[in-house]
Amino acid sequence: MSDKIHKCLIIGSGPAGYTAAIYAARANMAPVLFTGPEPGGQLITTTDVENYPGYPGGIGGPEMMEEFRQQAERFGTEVRYEMISKVDFSTGENYHRVWTDSGEEWKAYTIIISTGASAKYLGLESEKRLLNNGVSACAVCDGFFYRGKEVAVVGGGDTAAEEATYLAKLCPRVHLIVRRDELRASKIMQERVFKTENITVHWNTETEEVLGDGKVNGVRVFNNKTGEKTVLPVEGFFVAIGHKPNTDIFKGFITMDETGYIKTVPGSTRTNIPGVFASGDAQDNVYRQAVTAAGTGCMAALDAERYLVAEGMV
Ligand code: NDP
Repeated sequence: MSDKIHKCLIIGSGPAGYTAAIYAARANMAPVLFTGPEPGGQLITTTDVENYPGYPGGIGGPEMMEEFRQQAERFGTEVRYEMISKVDFSTGENYHRVWTDSGEEWKAYTIIISTGASAKYLGLESEKRLLNNGVSACAVCDGFFYRGKEVAVVGGGDTAAEEATYLAKLCPRVHLIVRRDELRASKIMQERVFKTENITVHWNTETEEVLGDGKVNGVRVFNNKTGEKTVLPVEGFFVAIGHKPNTDIFKGFITMDETGYIKTVPGSTRTNIPGVFASGDAQDNVYRQAVTAAGTGCMAALDAERYLVAEGMV
């Protein structure tokens, strides 16, 4: 444990966290960034990133995050391969306290939360085995690779509806696998799905197994009313059953919506706690892109810097 009160601690190492670190380091805030359990965040499990501006030929997700890290370190960010497992944002002082999972305590005037979100998966062994080889949780990221191919989307919420309509522009046939006899998605998204001719909705249908050896070549589904099994001849299987923001450790301190996304003051990254800022997917359930996460990471560092100045902490 150190008594030092840092200017800025950043929790999370996706595009939001590293961008916050680049800006904070360049503003002489000497940030310390805790990577969390998956250094690099969700992009580590993405093969090719083709929609991040500045990479005309595309770039591998892990490679891109390595470059983010190097850029953050170049300006003096201290990157620690540790996880923050506990926080105290009610110290009654002008600083906050966080603890690593080895129990080490850190103090800082500003905290930037960029802990991201994790896609939910069905939990099938075949789904895990074929992840990134036909199984994806992001149509906007990976849909382009399935142009001209038949694909399936599982889920019945707005994400599934959005992914299905997005993929329908690229693929000849999109199978939407819905476990109930209705969609949870908003009416407008439902209408879009129903109006799109090349989307086939499979009601009361669940996935038994994703098929393929090395890469996906089908999915076996069953009707949960009749028990009837069918194989859909798809090459892409998109899981769109929701995301879970990684915000559990902030519960009780930070105001969140009912699904755990952190609420920020519109137009800023400020949370309900002075000195605590939130960026990236931990506070965004709408856009969820690397580039938007990076944008809010930048905003968080600028907000934190202005806070330090306004409070006379620099
Ligand atoms: P939701 O939680 O709204 O929907 C999840 C869907 O996946 C539900 O249809 C659910 O089925 C289904 N599901 C969950 N678990 C399983 C499973 N194990 N097997 C099969 N199906 C399963 O998540 P979303 O990501 O769709 O949306 C999250 C939030 O983000 C919502 O508030 C949504 O409105 C919002 N959003 C808004 C968008 C926009 O405004 N453009 C775009 C995307 C999301 P069931 O219905 O049976 O529970």
